[in-house]
Amino acid sequence: MAEPDLAPIIAAIAEEMKAAPDRGTVASYIPGLARIDPARFGIAVVTASGEAFTAGDAEMSFSIQSVSKVFALTLALGKIGDALWRRVGREPSGTAFNSIVQLEAERGIPRNPFINAGAIVVCDVNLSRARPVEAVAELLRFVRYLAEDETIGIDRMVASSEAETGFRNVALANFMRAYGNILHAPEEALWLYFNQCAIAMSCTQLAMSGRYLMASGRHPSGASVVSPGRARRINALMMMCGHYDASGDFAFRIGLPGKSGVGGGILAIAPGKASIAVWSPGLNAQGNSQLGTLALERLATRTGWSIFEGS
Ligand code: GLU
Repeated sequence: MAEPDLAPIIAAIAEEMKAAPDRGTVASYIPGLARIDPARFGIAVVTASGEAFTAGDAEMSFSIQSVSKVFALTLALGKIGDALWRRVGREPSGTAFNSIVQLEAERGIPRNPFINAGAIVVCDVNLSRARPVEAVAELLRFVRYLAEDETIGIDRMVASSEAETGFRNVALANFMRAYGNILHAPEEALWLYFNQCAIAMSCTQLAMSGRYLMASGRHPSGASVVSPGRARRINALMMMCGHYDASGDFAFRIGLPGKSGVGGGILAIAPGKASIAVWSPGLNAQGNSQLGTLALERLATRTGWSIFEGS
Protein backbone atom coordinates (compact mmCIF):
# COMPACT_ATOMS: atom_id res chain seq x y z
CA MET A 1 0.00 0.00 0.00
CA ALA A 2 1.24 3.54 -0.85
CA GLU A 3 2.20 5.98 1.94
CA PRO A 4 -1.11 7.01 3.51
CA ASP A 5 -2.07 10.70 3.51
CA LEU A 6 -2.33 10.95 7.28
CA ALA A 7 -3.56 14.49 7.92
CA PRO A 8 -6.99 14.04 6.25
CA ILE A 9 -7.37 10.48 7.58
CA ILE A 10 -6.82 11.60 11.18
CA ALA A 11 -8.97 14.72 10.85
CA ALA A 12 -11.82 12.62 9.42
CA ILE A 13 -11.56 10.05 12.22
CA ALA A 14 -11.67 12.77 14.90
CA GLU A 15 -14.74 14.27 13.20
CA GLU A 16 -16.47 10.88 12.98
CA MET A 17 -15.87 10.23 16.68
CA LYS A 18 -17.94 13.33 17.56
CA ALA A 19 -20.99 11.57 16.10
CA ALA A 20 -20.31 8.12 17.57
CA PRO A 21 -23.49 6.85 19.25
CA ASP A 22 -21.82 4.81 22.02
CA ARG A 23 -18.99 6.51 23.89
CA GLY A 24 -18.75 3.88 26.66
CA THR A 25 -18.62 4.61 30.39
CA VAL A 26 -15.99 6.67 32.19
CA ALA A 27 -14.13 4.81 34.97
CA SER A 28 -15.65 5.82 38.27
CA TYR A 29 -13.60 3.95 40.87
CA ILE A 30 -11.74 7.12 41.83
CA PRO A 31 -12.94 10.75 41.69
CA GLY A 32 -9.91 11.85 39.63
CA LEU A 33 -11.08 9.71 36.71
CA ALA A 34 -14.85 9.97 37.22
CA ARG A 35 -14.94 13.74 36.61
CA ILE A 36 -13.48 13.57 33.07
CA ASP A 37 -15.80 14.68 30.25
CA PRO A 38 -16.77 11.59 28.17
CA ALA A 39 -16.97 13.75 25.02
CA ARG A 40 -13.18 14.11 24.88
CA PHE A 41 -11.31 12.47 22.03
CA GLY A 42 -7.71 12.94 20.96
CA ILE A 43 -5.34 11.23 18.54
CA ALA A 44 -1.64 11.68 17.78
CA VAL A 45 0.40 9.79 15.19
CA VAL A 46 4.18 10.11 14.98
CA THR A 47 5.68 8.50 11.90
CA ALA A 48 9.03 6.82 11.39
CA SER A 49 10.22 9.91 9.52
CA GLY A 50 9.46 12.02 12.61
CA GLU A 51 6.36 13.80 11.38
CA ALA A 52 3.56 14.27 13.92
CA PHE A 53 -0.14 14.46 13.06
CA THR A 54 -2.77 15.27 15.67
CA ALA A 55 -6.50 15.90 15.91
CA GLY A 56 -9.07 16.57 18.63
CA ASP A 57 -7.92 16.85 22.24
CA ALA A 58 -4.42 15.58 21.45
CA GLU A 59 -2.71 18.06 23.79
CA MET A 60 -4.95 17.42 26.77
CA SER A 61 -3.33 15.55 29.63
CA PHE A 62 -4.94 12.36 30.97
CA SER A 63 -4.07 9.61 33.41
CA ILE A 64 -2.14 6.99 31.40
CA GLN A 65 -2.91 4.27 33.96
CA SER A 66 -2.00 0.84 32.61
CA VAL A 67 -0.23 2.18 29.54
CA SER A 68 2.57 2.88 32.05
CA LYS A 69 3.05 -0.90 32.32
CA VAL A 70 4.87 -0.82 28.95
CA PHE A 71 7.47 1.66 30.17
CA ALA A 72 7.84 -0.07 33.56
CA LEU A 73 8.37 -3.41 31.79
CA THR A 74 11.03 -1.86 29.55
CA LEU A 75 12.91 -0.61 32.63
CA ALA A 76 12.59 -3.96 34.44
CA LEU A 77 13.96 -5.86 31.42
CA GLY A 78 16.87 -3.42 31.40
CA LYS A 79 17.58 -4.30 35.03
CA ILE A 80 17.28 -8.09 35.08
CA GLY A 81 16.81 -9.11 31.44
CA ASP A 82 15.24 -12.49 30.74
CA ALA A 83 15.40 -13.44 34.43
CA LEU A 84 12.11 -11.51 34.60
CA TRP A 85 10.39 -14.43 32.89
CA ARG A 86 11.00 -16.63 35.91
CA ARG A 87 8.68 -14.33 37.88
CA VAL A 88 6.12 -13.29 35.25
CA GLY A 89 4.65 -15.27 32.35
CA ARG A 90 4.05 -14.09 28.80
CA GLU A 91 0.72 -15.65 27.97
CA PRO A 92 -2.58 -13.82 27.56
CA SER A 93 -4.65 -14.22 30.70
CA GLY A 94 -8.15 -14.14 29.22
CA THR A 95 -9.22 -12.57 32.50
CA ALA A 96 -9.92 -9.05 33.75
CA PHE A 97 -7.10 -6.59 34.50
CA ASN A 98 -7.36 -7.09 38.24
CA SER A 99 -8.18 -10.80 38.36
CA ILE A 100 -6.73 -12.97 41.12
CA VAL A 101 -8.13 -16.35 40.00
CA GLN A 102 -5.10 -17.75 38.15
CA LEU A 103 -2.59 -16.78 40.81
CA GLU A 104 -3.24 -19.66 43.20
CA ALA A 105 -3.03 -22.43 40.60
CA GLU A 106 0.07 -20.79 39.14
CA ARG A 107 1.79 -20.37 42.50
CA GLY A 108 1.98 -16.60 42.54
CA ILE A 109 3.40 -16.23 39.01
CA PRO A 110 1.17 -13.81 37.04
CA ARG A 111 0.32 -14.72 33.45
CA ASN A 112 1.88 -11.60 31.92
CA PRO A 113 3.36 -8.19 32.83
CA PHE A 114 0.30 -6.23 31.68
CA ILE A 115 -2.33 -7.55 34.07
CA ASN A 116 -2.19 -5.83 37.46
CA ALA A 117 -0.52 -8.77 39.24
CA GLY A 118 2.25 -8.88 36.62
CA ALA A 119 2.74 -5.12 36.73
CA ILE A 120 3.11 -5.24 40.51
CA VAL A 121 5.89 -7.85 40.14
CA VAL A 122 7.52 -5.56 37.56
CA CYS A 123 7.34 -2.74 40.14
CA ASP A 124 9.00 -5.02 42.68
CA VAL A 125 11.84 -5.57 40.18
CA ASN A 126 12.13 -1.84 39.58
CA LEU A 127 12.57 -1.34 43.33
CA SER A 128 15.84 -3.30 43.30
CA ARG A 129 18.48 -1.11 44.94
CA ALA A 130 16.10 1.88 44.96
CA ARG A 131 13.68 3.37 47.44
CA PRO A 132 10.11 3.77 46.11
CA VAL A 133 10.53 7.55 45.55
CA GLU A 134 13.73 6.91 43.59
CA ALA A 135 12.06 4.21 41.50
CA VAL A 136 9.16 6.55 40.64
CA ALA A 137 11.66 9.29 39.75
CA GLU A 138 13.58 6.86 37.53
CA LEU A 139 10.42 5.88 35.64
CA LEU A 140 9.42 9.51 35.21
CA ARG A 141 12.92 10.37 33.94
CA PHE A 142 12.69 7.49 31.49
CA VAL A 143 9.31 8.57 30.10
CA ARG A 144 10.46 12.20 29.81
CA TYR A 145 13.55 11.03 27.94
CA LEU A 146 11.45 8.90 25.58
CA ALA A 147 9.03 11.75 24.87
CA GLU A 148 11.77 14.41 24.92
CA ASP A 149 9.46 16.37 27.17
CA GLU A 150 10.43 17.45 30.69
CA THR A 151 6.92 18.63 31.55
CA ILE A 152 5.46 15.12 32.02
CA GLY A 153 4.46 14.58 35.66
CA ILE A 154 2.35 12.58 38.06
CA ASP A 155 -1.20 13.50 39.08
CA ARG A 156 -0.80 13.28 42.88
CA MET A 157 -4.54 13.32 43.47
CA VAL A 158 -5.01 10.25 41.26
CA ALA A 159 -2.05 8.48 42.92
CA SER A 160 -3.41 8.96 46.42
CA SER A 161 -6.97 7.97 45.45
CA GLU A 162 -5.56 4.80 43.86
CA ALA A 163 -3.82 4.02 47.13
CA GLU A 164 -7.00 4.64 49.13
CA THR A 165 -9.20 2.43 46.95
CA GLY A 166 -6.83 -0.19 45.53
CA PHE A 167 -7.89 -3.04 47.77
CA ARG A 168 -7.70 -5.66 45.05
CA ASN A 169 -4.18 -4.56 44.16
CA VAL A 170 -3.25 -4.82 47.85
CA ALA A 171 -4.67 -8.35 47.84
CA LEU A 172 -2.72 -9.28 44.68
CA ALA A 173 0.57 -7.98 46.12
CA ASN A 174 0.10 -9.79 49.42
CA PHE A 175 -0.96 -13.01 47.72
CA MET A 176 2.18 -12.99 45.57
CA ARG A 177 4.28 -12.06 48.62
CA ALA A 178 3.01 -15.25 50.26
CA TYR A 179 4.45 -17.20 47.31
CA GLY A 180 7.75 -15.32 47.54
CA ASN A 181 7.22 -13.49 44.24
CA ILE A 182 7.23 -10.03 45.83
CA LEU A 183 10.61 -9.44 47.46
CA HIS A 184 10.06 -5.99 48.95
CA ALA A 185 7.37 -4.87 51.36
CA PRO A 186 4.10 -5.13 49.37
CA GLU A 187 3.29 -1.49 50.30
CA GLU A 188 6.45 -0.33 48.54
CA ALA A 189 5.70 -2.18 45.28
CA LEU A 190 2.12 -0.88 45.47
CA TRP A 191 3.21 2.71 46.09
CA LEU A 192 5.35 2.55 42.97
CA TYR A 193 2.46 0.92 41.04
CA PHE A 194 -0.10 3.56 42.09
CA ASN A 195 2.26 6.38 41.19
CA GLN A 196 3.16 4.95 37.80
CA CYS A 197 -0.55 4.54 36.96
CA ALA A 198 -1.02 8.23 37.84
CA ILE A 199 1.48 9.54 35.27
CA ALA A 200 -0.37 12.16 33.24
CA MET A 201 0.35 12.61 29.54
CA SER A 202 -1.27 13.94 26.39
CA CYS A 203 -1.73 11.88 23.22
CA THR A 204 1.19 13.74 21.66
CA GLN A 205 3.48 12.97 24.62
CA LEU A 206 2.38 9.33 24.65
CA ALA A 207 2.91 8.83 20.91
CA MET A 208 6.35 10.43 21.24
CA SER A 209 7.19 8.06 24.12
CA GLY A 210 6.30 5.02 22.05
CA ARG A 211 8.68 5.85 19.19
CA TYR A 212 11.34 3.38 20.33
CA LEU A 213 8.86 0.53 19.86
CA MET A 214 8.19 1.45 16.22
CA ALA A 215 11.90 2.00 15.56
CA SER A 216 13.43 -1.35 16.58
CA GLY A 217 14.31 0.01 20.01
CA ARG A 218 15.98 3.23 18.89
CA HIS A 219 15.42 6.69 20.40
CA PRO A 220 15.23 9.48 17.78
CA SER A 221 18.63 10.69 19.02
CA GLY A 222 20.04 7.43 17.63
CA ALA A 223 20.63 5.97 21.10
CA SER A 224 19.46 2.43 21.72
CA VAL A 225 16.68 2.26 24.32
CA VAL A 226 16.36 -1.52 23.93
CA SER A 227 17.75 -3.99 21.42
CA PRO A 228 15.71 -4.70 18.26
CA GLY A 229 14.88 -8.16 19.64
CA ARG A 230 13.57 -6.72 22.89
CA ALA A 231 11.46 -4.11 21.08
CA ARG A 232 9.99 -6.93 18.99
CA ARG A 233 9.14 -8.93 22.09
CA ILE A 234 7.57 -6.00 23.92
CA ASN A 235 5.41 -5.43 20.84
CA ALA A 236 4.48 -9.14 20.84
CA LEU A 237 3.40 -8.89 24.48
CA MET A 238 1.34 -5.79 23.71
CA MET A 239 -0.35 -7.63 20.86
CA MET A 240 -1.14 -10.72 22.93
CA CYS A 241 -1.83 -9.22 26.35
CA GLY A 242 -2.26 -5.43 26.01
CA HIS A 243 -6.04 -5.34 26.31
CA TYR A 244 -6.74 -7.88 29.07
CA ASP A 245 -9.62 -10.19 28.17
CA ALA A 246 -10.25 -8.14 25.00
CA SER A 247 -6.74 -8.67 23.60
CA GLY A 248 -8.02 -11.11 20.99
CA ASP A 249 -10.70 -8.69 19.89
CA PHE A 250 -8.16 -5.84 19.63
CA ALA A 251 -5.89 -7.99 17.44
CA PHE A 252 -8.89 -9.06 15.36
CA ARG A 253 -10.14 -5.51 14.80
CA ILE A 254 -6.91 -3.50 14.69
CA GLY A 255 -4.01 -5.88 14.19
CA LEU A 256 -1.41 -3.75 15.98
CA PRO A 257 0.42 -4.12 19.29
CA GLY A 258 -1.44 -1.91 21.75
CA LYS A 259 -1.70 -1.17 25.44
CA SER A 260 -4.76 0.37 27.00
CA GLY A 261 -5.34 2.12 30.32
CA VAL A 262 -8.50 2.64 32.32
CA GLY A 263 -8.03 6.42 31.89
CA GLY A 264 -9.10 5.87 28.26
CA GLY A 265 -5.68 6.07 26.60
CA ILE A 266 -4.25 3.50 24.18
CA LEU A 267 -0.71 3.37 22.82
CA ALA A 268 -0.54 1.41 19.55
CA ILE A 269 2.55 0.65 17.50
CA ALA A 270 2.77 0.11 13.75
CA PRO A 271 6.31 -1.34 13.67
CA GLY A 272 8.54 0.54 11.27
CA LYS A 273 5.73 2.97 10.49
CA ALA A 274 4.20 4.86 13.39
CA SER A 275 3.66 5.31 17.10
CA ILE A 276 0.02 6.16 17.78
CA ALA A 277 -1.82 7.40 20.87
CA VAL A 278 -5.56 7.79 21.19
CA TRP A 279 -7.58 8.95 24.17
CA SER A 280 -11.25 8.97 24.94
CA PRO A 281 -12.30 8.34 28.56
CA GLY A 282 -15.44 6.25 27.93
CA LEU A 283 -14.65 2.55 28.35
CA ASN A 284 -16.15 -0.67 27.02
CA ALA A 285 -17.07 -3.62 29.22
CA GLN A 286 -13.44 -4.83 29.39
CA GLY A 287 -12.13 -1.44 30.55
CA ASN A 288 -10.65 -0.34 27.21
CA SER A 289 -11.45 2.97 25.50
CA GLN A 290 -14.58 2.56 23.39
CA LEU A 291 -13.87 5.36 20.90
CA GLY A 292 -10.11 4.90 21.11
CA THR A 293 -10.53 1.33 19.88
CA LEU A 294 -12.96 2.38 17.14
CA ALA A 295 -10.63 5.17 16.00
CA LEU A 296 -7.67 2.77 15.84
CA GLU A 297 -9.75 0.30 13.86
CA ARG A 298 -10.51 2.98 11.28
CA LEU A 299 -6.91 4.20 11.23
CA ALA A 300 -5.55 0.67 10.70
CA THR A 301 -8.07 0.04 7.91
CA ARG A 302 -7.42 3.32 6.10
CA THR A 303 -3.64 3.19 6.38
CA GLY A 304 -3.23 -0.55 5.80
CA TRP A 305 -0.99 -0.62 8.89
CA SER A 306 -2.30 -3.84 10.45
CA ILE A 307 0.69 -6.14 10.84
CA PHE A 308 -1.44 -8.81 9.18
CA GLU A 309 -1.86 -6.70 6.05
CA GLY A 310 1.26 -8.05 4.35
CA SER A 311 2.41 -4.88 2.58
N1 GLU B 1 -4.87 1.84 38.36
C1 GLU B 1 -5.69 0.84 37.75
C2 GLU B 1 -5.80 -0.34 38.65
O1 GLU B 1 -4.80 -0.92 38.98
C3 GLU B 1 -5.12 0.52 36.41
C4 GLU B 1 -6.00 -0.39 35.62
C5 GLU B 1 -5.98 -0.12 34.13
O2 GLU B 1 -5.55 0.92 33.65
O3 GLU B 1 -6.44 -1.00 33.42
O4 GLU B 1 -6.85 -0.70 39.07
